[in-house]
Amino acid sequence: MDDIENGLQATMEHISKLLTNVGLFVLFLTSMTFVDRWIPLYVIALTVMDFSFLVAAQSFEGKHLPELKRLDNQLKTVELRARQAGQAKDIRMFHAAAFFGEMYKRAGDEKSVLFAKIQRKYRTGSIVRSVLGFLRDAGCYAYLIYLLYASKIGLGDFVFMIGIVINFSDNLAGVFMNLAAFTKDMISLRELKRLLKSPESGEDGEMPVPDTFESIRFEGVSYRYGNDQEYVLKDISFCINAGEQIGLVGLNGAGKTTLTLLLCGLLKPTGGKIFYNGIDIEQFSRKEYISLFSNVFQDINLLHFTIGENITGSSDGETWKRAETVLKTAGFERNLGERGTAASIGKTFDERGIDFSGGEKQKLAIARALYKNTAIFILDEPTSAMDPLAEERFVRNYKEIFSNRTSIFISHRLLNTKICDRILLIDHGRLVECGTHEALMKAKGLYYELFCAQQKSYGLI
Ligand code: ADP
Repeated sequence: MDDIENGLQATMEHISKLLTNVGLFVLFLTSMTFVDRWIPLYVIALTVMDFSFLVAAQSFEGKHLPELKRLDNQLKTVELRARQAGQAKDIRMFHAAAFFGEMYKRAGDEKSVLFAKIQRKYRTGSIVRSVLGFLRDAGCYAYLIYLLYASKIGLGDFVFMIGIVINFSDNLAGVFMNLAAFTKDMISLRELKRLLKSPESGEDGEMPVPDTFESIRFEGVSYRYGNDQEYVLKDISFCINAGEQIGLVGLNGAGKTTLTLLLCGLLKPTGGKIFYNGIDIEQFSRKEYISLFSNVFQDINLLHFTIGENITGSSDGETWKRAETVLKTAGFERNLGERGTAASIGKTFDERGIDFSGGEKQKLAIARALYKNTAIFILDEPTSAMDPLAEERFVRNYKEIFSNRTSIFISHRLLNTKICDRILLIDHGRLVECGTHEALMKAKGLYYELFCAQQKSYGLI
């Protein structure tokens, strides 16, 4: 918010300076034209030429900015990866150190070459501009001396013009500078407007979200990640009622995660509509709508703070008591010692911090979602890093943990989701089957095929 205010303040300053410059320009121009009209024309012509060199250098830099950013990103990514202790084994195992070094050198070299080209443009511009500045001042003074000697102007006009020429040209440069700054502000404001309109940050609607959740309905929803990309989801329609436990299954890349991101308002459908209690979700304040969901994503991001802070989002130790309860419900069994929920995750801020295993992190993330206790839970492969026993225990207790709650359980292991009230099977972006496990097995369609294939691969049949 501070950035927006600072940006608007800078824009207002540029507008005010521009108006002052334009006013002074008109005043100087009128006064000079009374004495001689060639001098202002000459100054304007040379100042425009002078400025065009600066603009050329700036637009060259602007054109190559995305490339510079890309190279910067590459350098930062390699630096970050090379510093992460967790990456060390991958780097060693796959002999990637030389590759990392080569990538870093290539990006560094490319950046240096590009940077030197930009600098050269500015340097050439600066030399030409010095010459033009000299020609402008010397030309004006020589011409004024000629006018004085030829008795075409008096001494008073001569002194007046000598004083005003520099001011006039500085002021004209000011007009161009502030115009350029204002144009840049407009580009930034357009970008800001685009960001504010994006589904992640926008406050689309005004309507408060109803207190009681009844249903969510997809009606002909399609989605693609970019205008030039293929549709990832096509014409999806279904309804989830309050209290239902839904299994969302399909092969890798079928579109399951994308569907849940649309469901919880983090993406906006390219086509079709989503209704919450029968109301188009675009009508709701997006922030309020998003807060209806608790997600356990595949890539878990736990902050290197205490367990209590991670689960409750508060540094008030009093609130951490309930964290212990949800940890137990989520099946987290590790003994945290006397520090309990005050123990830190990782060692970034606390050398006594604990490095948890992938499965334990998943249980912490489930506990965090349970603590939030929202209308709808979305669990995207929540057991993928758990050992078979922990996974079996989680699935066995799933019904109990999420009883009286609405949940969507994504898993590619169909044995896990068979306990759900209803299963949605996504294939190549389409909802191809929907029903209870028993009904889908009886239908002997794709679900049946996938289920049997998995049973076979696990040696269960
Ligand atoms: P699933 O969860 O079923 O594995 P996803 O919803 O993650 O499938 O992905 C569906 C398709 O969308 C895949 O082809 C994937 O490559 C593509 N995809 C996912 N995220 C993005 C993204 N941010 N940009 C472009 N394509 C994406």
